[in-house]
Amino acid sequence: MALLRSLSAQRTTINLVYSRNTSTNGGTAAAAAVANGNGLRRAQALHTTNNNNNSKNNNTNANSDGYAATDSETANILSTLRQVLQKQHQQLQWQNLVLSSVVAGNAGIGGGGGGGGGFYSHSTTRSLHSAARNQQAQVAPAEIAVDDEAKQRKREALKPVEPKPAGTPQRDPLDVSFNDPLAAFKSKTTWELVRAYVVYMICSSEKLVEHNMKLMKVARTLLGGRLFELLMKSSFYGHFVAGENRHTIVPTLERLRSFGVKPILDYSVEEDISQEEAEKREVESSVSSAGDVKDDGTMPQYHVDKSFADRRYKVSSARTYFYLNEATCERNMETFIKCLEAVSVDDAKVPRAVALGATFGTGITAIKLTALGRPQLLLQLSEVIMRTRKYMEDLVGGQGNVLTHHKTIKDLEKYYASVGDNKDVQEFLKNVTSDKEGILHLFPWSGIVDENSQLSDTFRVPDPQTGQMRRLISQIPPKEEEMFRNMIRRLNTIVKTAAELDVRIMIDAEQTYFQPAISRITLEMMRKYNKEKAIVFNTYQCYLRESFREVGTDLEQAKRQNFYFGAKLVRGAYMEQERARAQALGYSDPVNPNYEATTEMYHKTLTECLRRIKLFKDSGEDAKKIGIMVASHNEDTVRFAIEKMKEIGISPEDKVICFGQLLGMCDYITFPLGQAGYSAYKYIPYGPVEEVLPYLSRRAQENKGVLKKIQKEKRLLAAEIRRRAFRGQLFYKPKGNYVPI
Ligand SMILES: Cc1cc2nc3c(=O)[nH]c(=O)nc-3n(C[C@H](O)[C@H](O)[C@H](O)COP(=O)(O)OP(=O)(O)OC[C@H]3O[C@@H](n4cnc5c(N)ncnc54)[C@H](O)[C@@H]3O)c2cc1C
Repeated sequence: MALLRSLSAQRTTINLVYSRNTSTNGGTAAAAAVANGNGLRRAQALHTTNNNNNSKNNNTNANSDGYAATDSETANILSTLRQVLQKQHQQLQWQNLVLSSVVAGNAGIGGGGGGGGGFYSHSTTRSLHSAARNQQAQVAPAEIAVDDEAKQRKREALKPVEPKPAGTPQRDPLDVSFNDPLAAFKSKTTWELVRAYVVYMICSSEKLVEHNMKLMKVARTLLGGRLFELLMKSSFYGHFVAGENRHTIVPTLERLRSFGVKPILDYSVEEDISQEEAEKREVESSVSSAGDVKDDGTMPQYHVDKSFADRRYKVSSARTYFYLNEATCERNMETFIKCLEAVSVDDAKVPRAVALGATFGTGITAIKLTALGRPQLLLQLSEVIMRTRKYMEDLVGGQGNVLTHHKTIKDLEKYYASVGDNKDVQEFLKNVTSDKEGILHLFPWSGIVDENSQLSDTFRVPDPQTGQMRRLISQIPPKEEEMFRNMIRRLNTIVKTAAELDVRIMIDAEQTYFQPAISRITLEMMRKYNKEKAIVFNTYQCYLRESFREVGTDLEQAKRQNFYFGAKLVRGAYMEQERARAQALGYSDPVNPNYEATTEMYHKTLTECLRRIKLFKDSGEDAKKIGIMVASHNEDTVRFAIEKMKEIGISPEDKVICFGQLLGMCDYITFPLGQAGYSAYKYIPYGPVEEVLPYLSRRAQENKGVLKKIQKEKRLLAAEIRRRAFRGQLFYKPKGNYVPI
């Protein structure tokens, strides 16, 4: 309520400011100036009239960033504005209303905004001066400590919309403080900036965020389908989602591309089901029809628990699929394939203009394995993987992944010496394989991506004392074995299509009780399809205590078995749920003890990948044997990656490191990176308005948790809107001449 009251107070104040400005001659001060055909000069005149003492400062401010439009440009913009004003008076009124609030240094702008609602209600004129000073105060001193040369470089780099002639792609220097509003938003129209500002303002309100889904539903009922869609498109949907389908997203993708940014496409349609329905479906699909068999070696984390069956619990940043039946999994596969086609350059089924327009072959498709099959099978496979590790630990001592033990078949024979006569043990040893370095594989893991595999028969080991064979996985009924093969077939179809279309796919990381299976299957897919380039990327969650070791083991395997290793490094999206579940079910917390430990793990893992890339590079091998995406909204981590790349000797042109953020989040990181020639990606959700509401709801929730980042985004947005207002560039048309690396 407090926030609503404050918003309403701001609105009243804004109205006051607006009406006073209107009386001086149309719209907000800045808009009025522009509308009267005098642009910046008019705004300055207004300042001079009202406050002579400040006009000099203001002139200095106006000239200080070197972002001046030419007279003819200004005249063009003015005439456009006049036409738009006539045609869209109503819409403009609203935009001006918001603009005036932003231009006046609205409350909620971080870092020295100081004045809050009260100060600009005193004087319109003063608000303009203060806004200009605030802008300087906020953007300039502490955070952008640049010398004259750097300033000059920045000015040059950020001159707006002066596309170079075709064939000469633009590159800007990178301000690694990520404090540059021009670089952050040169790909956006002013309307998009205002919309972003309003969206972030709403996301900063706890009450609105908490009840966002209900509010959206109420709005849907009150407004009706069409009006609601319009409202969403001009607010949340417009900000966070690229469009309804792979055709309508093309303009967004083209714009991104022209500013050096590539897409990771994600068809974000989600079922909006109740908690009860989610729990029911999850429990039913996580238990075998043979029952939830538990024996001595059972690990509780790999068995469903009703209290955590709704996997959306305390998760805001990830999409959740709940299994319904095999037909829905089949449909999900088809959707992923459509996504691949949208990314592809030369699929005959896709009209060439669409395909080319979509991503120019540089895009990626995101895949979630839980969309493709029954979760029970992932749980069981995960358990078997972890029990195998445990078995090896008990057998040979030590800790961790089987592959890190570096034991050979000879060693294994010694362990079974006392039961060596047993026929089953001999048969088992016959099937154990080893790779070229003699490292053994208890089970033919590659067989799990074989569409004929039989889980129940594969995972049996001899008891070292008695020689009796025991299952590491409970007997799976034939129908469920078939479902597992279906899941693998779907994934194989997707990856095969991706390989044929030459499109990369990233398999998302999910909860720890699925993750051993997801990771194992993904690695086997890499082994199968990443022979000449990285088509399949795995995801590693650095909030997990084991992540550094996991990445190391998989890198080793890729090296030994000579395939391309692709990885997306994230911190991890399920922390609270993981912790609560571990505590409730009585197993040890898989997540690092604190945020600092997670960051250290992330940086250590990334450094290890970079070190190995450099080894490849130095030895004359293909450095692209390892490809890493730094998927993080944390600018310190992005800076860390850039600095380490420099320190170790890896350049953006090596095309082995890329960066990824979500559409509508942290533009101040993604765009400057892309414009500076780094490989930068936006995670692009798309889908019909009504069907992406759960996604939008989660975006609002997640934003609440990253208020500091939002404050920065809002501050930069406000600075850029003000700058455009002062320069008479409110109708700036983004047109980039960048080519993504
Ligand atoms: C392009 C992209 C793809 C993604 N794909 C996946 C995916 O496949 N799977 C997935 O799980 N997530 C994925 N994420 C989400 C990601 O894991 C993070 O949840 C999110 O990006 C926030 O982390 P950060 O580094 O951006 O920001 P930060 O704010 O620096 O980090 C927040 C994160 O730090 C960790 N953390 C916070 N507090 C603690 C604590 N007390 N102890 C230990 N750790 C802590 C948590 O992981 C938390 O999410 C993806 C994100 C992006 C941008």
